Amino acid sequence: MRANPVQARESARAILRDFGVKVAPVPVERIIKARGIVLQYAPLDEDLSGMAYIKDDIGIIGVNALHHPNRQRFSAAHELGHHVLHESEIRKAVHVDRGFRMLLRDDVSSQGVDPLEIDANAFASELLMPSELLTTALHASGLDIEDDAGIEALARKFRVSASAMRYRLAGRFL
Ligand SMILES: [Zn+2]
Repeated sequence: MRANPVQARESARAILRDFGVKVAPVPVERIIKARGIVLQYAPLDEDLSGMAYIKDDIGIIGVNALHHPNRQRFSAAHELGHHVLHESEIRKAVHVDRGFRMLLRDDVSSQGVDPLEIDANAFASELLMPSELLTTALHASGLDIEDDAGIEALARKFRVSASAMRYRLAGRFL
């Protein structure tokens, strides 16, 4: 399977449209629950971010409750991406994510090259930081995104980590 981040982003935008999301932060929990997916928080090993699977026809997302709430939101959105984009794969086996290292480091990691992960990250990034809301926020606030404080303020508004916002603004998920 080849990565198709453009389509992954489009799927995220379609969900935001259906849900009528017009302001940040994007209610990722409500979006997941509205799709009938069970969202569970549990204390997991530090390097585990989340998991996605389908059991007895019920979609399940697990998120590491020990991580920062903003990271939990990204993990939940990433796992939703697997449910939306990779249903047949997660029916076969539990999909486990061991951290989103591409958000923390610049080197190439398994998260950065596996097509499933590229797509799920592109989906999560667009879902939590939709281009339209991002553009509006940037224009309205006059924030300087060359500046760390500006990025942090924007990240707080969207309830994502500053590193996720930095990647988003750099277009790394495209
Ligand atoms: Zn994944």
